[in-house]
Amino acid sequence: MPGIDDFIRPKEWTSEMQAQMRTAIRKWADDRLKPIVENVDEDWKDHKLVEPLLKEVLVDFGLNSAFFPTELGGQDMPENQYMAMTCTVVEELSRIDSGFATACICSIWGLVPILLKPTRNMELLKDIAPKFCGRDLYVGSHLITEPASGADVENLGVLKGKTIQTTATLEGDEWIINGHKIWATNTGRVGDLYTVIATTRKGSSDLNDFGLFLVPRESEGVSVGNPYHKAGMAADMNSDVWFDHVRIPKKNRLHGPGKDAEYWLRTVSMGQLGTAAMAVGVMKGVYEIIKKWTTERIVAGKPLKEHSICAEMLSEIAMNIESTSAWMWAYIREWDHPEIYGTKSWDEGFTLKTRGLAVHASIAVERVCSRAMDFMSSAGYAREYGLEKHWRDSKMIGLWMGGYGLKALENARYWFECETL
Ligand SMILES: Cc1cc2nc3c(=O)[nH]c(=O)nc-3n(C[C@H](O)[C@H](O)[C@H](O)COP(=O)(O)OP(=O)(O)OC[C@H]3O[C@@H](n4cnc5c(N)ncnc54)[C@H](O)[C@@H]3O)c2cc1C
Repeated sequence: MPGIDDFIRPKEWTSEMQAQMRTAIRKWADDRLKPIVENVDEDWKDHKLVEPLLKEVLVDFGLNSAFFPTELGGQDMPENQYMAMTCTVVEELSRIDSGFATACICSIWGLVPILLKPTRNMELLKDIAPKFCGRDLYVGSHLITEPASGADVENLGVLKGKTIQTTATLEGDEWIINGHKIWATNTGRVGDLYTVIATTRKGSSDLNDFGLFLVPRESEGVSVGNPYHKAGMAADMNSDVWFDHVRIPKKNRLHGPGKDAEYWLRTVSMGQLGTAAMAVGVMKGVYEIIKKWTTERIVAGKPLKEHSICAEMLSEIAMNIESTSAWMWAYIREWDHPEIYGTKSWDEGFTLKTRGLAVHASIAVERVCSRAMDFMSSAGYAREYGLEKHWRDSKMIGLWMGGYGLKALENARYWFECETL
């Protein structure tokens, strides 16, 4: 009998290590997260339920320490597993709660340019490893979006940081950070360490001025707002963060002029692949719900799935999972195996291609949730069956990281060599 593990995941590309991680995370998500997922949805303001769950995944399962070097207390995941393991974890968590998956993966997302080989910054990793590899919950957050526009900050290809309003000014041995960020995952009371995008020269479109800076939340001059009340993704807390003459050591710039912009594309390509894994996880969750429903629900004297018009919808769901999963695994492979493809995960062309995958994945997941609801009807709209939560949460999967417009135009820029967009 086919099930969620029969959708495309090339066996020759997956490892024993990934299989074990998949089994462990799936069991945890089914036993621990699923029974309380409706309550987590109400916990957007306080995160009383979410915090202990975050500790279980980030600390006990070791997601926070997974990529850190062994000599600093981490698990030093092999380079050829980086993206396969990331997507495996994100997919399995998203099958139950994509908001929770977002909160987990974003804890380390902003560190990608200094955390992964071969672009590690050992001096900075040494500073932060005791927290990320320790026994207490410590959470990272990547602050990109600003009130004026999130997409413009991400649009490095054309705007090259010109519109960034958050500034970093060097004074002696310290950077002084000023500005206002909004929306980042793991803000509010959650995040402990921010990776902040700031410009070293306001209005500059020189990529040497695009900077990435580590700012601990406890620094003087940092203040955070209240959590936003969103349509979904309650397990991800988002709020305003203000920086008022915040002083950080000079060494807290991740790589320096030029390199910050170059290696940040690694963060983008990982974000797009993570987005696809999230969509695949949600779609598999929906597949399980709608398969059970259309098998057990008797309409006009036979199971719903035996009606041809319903079968057409079921086929569409299966096709969306197959196509998104196949495409995702092809790019995972390219990310993890530069020795075969000659691709670096921060290559501009590769990053722009992953934008296309993210668009496809977000359209697929939205369609799958909506079509499933068409046939579950009012029950699909009720909280108790779980579909409604996936439907609400997954809309966001297409909106972040520059939104639909920026992702689509960057993808077209690559494939069609657009010169002005
Ligand atoms: C649950 C959640 C988690 C999030 N996590 C993070 C996070 O971790 N870090 C973070 O910094 N932010 C985060 N965000 C914010 C999110 O990434 C931004 O909202 C998103 O990037 C879009 O920015 P914006 O809302 O300012 O839209 P705008 O920048 O105002 O864009 C509006 C629309 O215009 C389109 N557009 C932009 N440029 C062009 C163009 N040149 N041509 C055509 N169309 C264009 C965009 O694609 C978009 O569709 C999160 C938001 C949510 C809700």
